[in-house]
Amino acid sequence: MFNALVVEKDDAGKTSAGVQQIGEDRLPEGDVTVAIEYSTVNYKDGLCVGPGGGLVRNYPHVPGIDFAGTVEASDDPRYKAGDKVVLTGWRVGEAYWGGYAQKARVKADWLVPLPDGLDTRQAMAVGTAGFTAMLAVMALEDHGIRDGPVLVTGAAGGVGSVATAILANLGHAVAGVTGRPETADYLKSLGATQIVAREELNETVKRPLEAEIWGGCVDAVGGEMLARLLGQIKYGGSVAAVGLAGGAGLPATVIPFLLRGVNLLGIDSVMQPYDNRVRAWARIAKDLPMDKLEAMVQPAVLSDLPQLGRDILKGQVKGRIVVDVN
Ligand code: NDP
Repeated sequence: MFNALVVEKDDAGKTSAGVQQIGEDRLPEGDVTVAIEYSTVNYKDGLCVGPGGGLVRNYPHVPGIDFAGTVEASDDPRYKAGDKVVLTGWRVGEAYWGGYAQKARVKADWLVPLPDGLDTRQAMAVGTAGFTAMLAVMALEDHGIRDGPVLVTGAAGGVGSVATAILANLGHAVAGVTGRPETADYLKSLGATQIVAREELNETVKRPLEAEIWGGCVDAVGGEMLARLLGQIKYGGSVAAVGLAGGAGLPATVIPFLLRGVNLLGIDSVMQPYDNRVRAWARIAKDLPMDKLEAMVQPAVLSDLPQLGRDILKGQVKGRIVVDVN
């Protein structure tokens, strides 16, 4: 028997989540069984712990889109008992049972060996949010970051916090956009050199081109903010579009693309190919200062998850939550 956070749905369609003891015989099919050490909370986890947001296929469901732990048994030659592994994405925790449990059984293809230089707790302090932040920084680098501060929106959230710390460590000036002015000291401690109030960028686009300010941008917010900031990117600069915390719409014009050669780069962490995953995790171990990562961490246990799920959907989580499932 092991502990898991199980979400159930009643006949009226209402979901409820609680910690239960479940038998190993209920684990889904897969090649590798992992003894989970840590998981974390991302925006999507908030949806899957609650009403599902259309992501969860079947109930009862064990959410948790990320986990890190030790291989207990493997039918795949790439992994053996005792190996440390990380999993993010592949719709684990949504369509498949995920990391809010002491055990998981998954496809070997979905796993990545724990990168050198990170332990399982640090890997979950990074999690999907931090992994995605690294993918976004890599995409900006591939297209060339221009002179000038790099803008990070939703800066005090998970993606934003990790992006801020990585970019600052790489030597970029970082401007963090936040709706929570009380997080200014926290963002500066991660390396932000400038704090931009959310209201300054929340207005609808009035002029498609504004003064060129930003050398690039990691955008976790989308919506009107993304539309607006496109008109402030320097000539030839890029925006990595990561999230939709502020909305899925994009009420923009194409003018910044046509007159300033601005690039809008889409970032997906879920179906990311294996080789690029390994590359991103190696970059995280190298370019994300571990003291800054630690400063982002808020510890939690399985029974905290229903509340934390509600908090992250309201934009009330600062930095990264690390869930000790044991
Ligand atoms: P968090 O909730 O930790 O961070 C989101 C942040 O966005 C908040 O902390 C807040 O920052 C800001 N925010 C929230 N609501 C609004 C709003 N209405 N308008 C403007 N800003 C707002 O979530 P994550 O960092 O985990 O994820 C961020 C986004 O990225 C989510 O939309 C998520 O779904 C997406 N995502 C996408 C991935 C991909 O593969 N493309 C992978 C991971 C996440 P502040 O308080 O500083 O303003």
